[in-house]
Amino acid sequence: MVHIVGAGPGDPELITVKGQKFLSAADVVIYAGSLVNPELLKFCKPDAEIYNSAEMMLDEIIHVIEKSDAQGKEIVRLHTGDPSIYGAIQEQMDLLEEKNIDFDVVPGVSSFLAAAAALKQEYTLPGITQSVIITRRGGRTPVSDKESLKKLAQHQTTLCIFLSIGLIQEVVRDLMSAGFKSSTPIAIVQKASWPDEKIIKGRLETIVEQVKAEKIERTAMIIVGQCLNARKEHYEKSQLYSPKFSHMFRSAK
Ligand code: SAH
Repeated sequence: MVHIVGAGPGDPELITVKGQKFLSAADVVIYAGSLVNPELLKFCKPDAEIYNSAEMMLDEIIHVIEKSDAQGKEIVRLHTGDPSIYGAIQEQMDLLEEKNIDFDVVPGVSSFLAAAAALKQEYTLPGITQSVIITRRGGRTPVSDKESLKKLAQHQTTLCIFLSIGLIQEVVRDLMSAGFKSSTPIAIVQKASWPDEKIIKGRLETIVEQVKAEKIERTAMIIVGQCLNARKEHYEKSQLYSPKFSHMFRSAK
């Protein structure tokens, strides 16, 4: 049996209870060493076989899984954040299915959520925006024109942009050509929830210089949108706790 487990964004305490249980019981662990915090491996049994998938190719990963599964071993495939977001798990799951190897998936705390926590920020403020767009800018991995950053940014929602810090200049250019003003607030959270987490807050017109000055080159989330500088007087209070609003659990006063 293979458990595909979301490791969370970095802080080892941000793996789920279920994920940690599987990790502690695993005979074989294949972890994404480029981003998964190695501290998590402390939960593993002392005799667990540990593989770093950053140094492996897909068929090597599948080979280890196949061999271990045939020996009746419990296997954990540990992915950073939540495995469904830029996790490249579909191709692994399809191969496992083809080979009749049983697997399940345990979700994880994605880095865009850890970034909100680091910023102490709500992304969906009533009267500002009720949507979050998760995306990346096309680079070495292309993004089709219909979902280009230029097009998505026209919605003026909160945007969480993955895998794009190296293209910050192009990101800013796309956002401005989509209609975001140069004064739009933007935040960069590098290594959200790690001990060396770093936060930069700026505006579209300042952020490229700030990113350069702070030498932020990888493992960073770009967050853009008016939610970032909304003060109490800008957004509408939620109906949920309003005395004038009835709902299933409480009557209006
Ligand atoms: N599945 C992961 C994303 C993997 S793609 C998730 O759900 O978070 C890798 C990208 O995720 C990085 O380039 C960066 O944009 C983002 N990322 C991963 N961990 C991060 C962290 N701790 N802080 C900020 N961004 C992070």
